[in-house]
Amino acid sequence: MTGKLEFTDLKSQYAALREQIGERIQRVLDHGQYIMGPEVKELEQRLAAFTGAKHCITVASGTEALLIALMAIGLKPGDEVITTPFTFAATAEMIVLLGGKPVFVDIEADTCNIDASLIEAKITGRTRAIMPVSLYGQCADMDEINAIAARHGNIAVIEDAAQSFGASYKGRRSCHLSTIGCTSFFPSKPLGCYGDGGAMFTDDDALAQACREIRVHGQSARYTHTRIGVGGRMDTLQCAVVLAKLERFEWELQRRREIGERYHALLADAGLKLLAVRPDRDCVWGQYTVFVEHRAGVQAALQAQGIPTAVHYPLPLHFQPAYAQYCGPDSCPRSAFVAQQVMSLPMSADLGEADQGRVTSALLAQVGARDRQAHASPDCSNLVLPASEPGRCS
Ligand SMILES: *Cc1c(COP(=O)(O)O)cnc(C)c1O
Repeated sequence: MTGKLEFTDLKSQYAALREQIGERIQRVLDHGQYIMGPEVKELEQRLAAFTGAKHCITVASGTEALLIALMAIGLKPGDEVITTPFTFAATAEMIVLLGGKPVFVDIEADTCNIDASLIEAKITGRTRAIMPVSLYGQCADMDEINAIAARHGNIAVIEDAAQSFGASYKGRRSCHLSTIGCTSFFPSKPLGCYGDGGAMFTDDDALAQACREIRVHGQSARYTHTRIGVGGRMDTLQCAVVLAKLERFEWELQRRREIGERYHALLADAGLKLLAVRPDRDCVWGQYTVFVEHRAGVQAALQAQGIPTAVHYPLPLHFQPAYAQYCGPDSCPRSAFVAQQVMSLPMSADLGEADQGRVTSALLAQVGARDRQAHASPDCSNLVLPASEPGRCS
């Protein structure tokens, strides 16, 4: 078989929802309330009900959600926020932007999520928040993290759920597991719009009020600027797109789980090293990510066969020039190790069985014998980083 596969198949999704999306957009064009129109509130009500959270506040992007969440809890310059270095930069970036200090805690090598058992040792008198990331669509051990925060008092837990909207953890939904949950509607996320968008979720009335005010320049009433805020609203048109996409979102989630399970079955039999999914939660596969050695060669070979892959993420944040100064003496070796091996495969609700088979056979034909030996989890004993690594920690 030939032909190029999509890494994220937004075209088939649009084809399936063409009418609903067109109608929803037309309705906005007809009423003309482009800013904070009725679709904004409608979406917030639908998403609050979906997650079970008392409040949903839509915002301009996932990044903006993280920023507003940190502003709402009152993060001050010098405050510390515990987070993972194995994430998209926005997580730590918003901490630094507010003058805070990201304190990096290493991940579990088999889920790639923050290792809750390492958090407590990093708490100091300045710790103001913990920001776990639900990487690849699976939540971290949120109850354990909430318990640690509760033991120390006045520490907020902000879930970066940009990749996990729709995932569940012990029967509850991602975004409704901690003080504030933040998600993104970037087009390729599990629930996407056609531009930038995001949302925040909380059960706390005062925090919800703060988030709403910060979203519109700190206004508690028109031209009454009670606090410092940002211009962080989500466009009515983008809310309309998400509303249309909600019509088959449950179906898409089910498909993502099935496709993830099929990937697992096809690849586990061949002994490939795969992401672990904990029994008390599920994964919505924001990315379907495997571990391969000699990654660059495998990627090039797949690309030549029209199979796109991606790396989430090639370098943990504590090795990035902008963040190296924040890393402590222990340098998160598991993050460094898995960053050399992770490779994401095509994943969308519309990925057909034949195309998926094409991906797995092409992959299995490429990976070396070492990758085929089943590893319980990758260990760090053979961790070797290139000497030229920028910002390497000592
Ligand atoms: C996508 C993403 C973000 C940022 O979301 P945007 O909507 O692109 O601003 C933040 N954190 C993680 C983990 C992400 O994957």
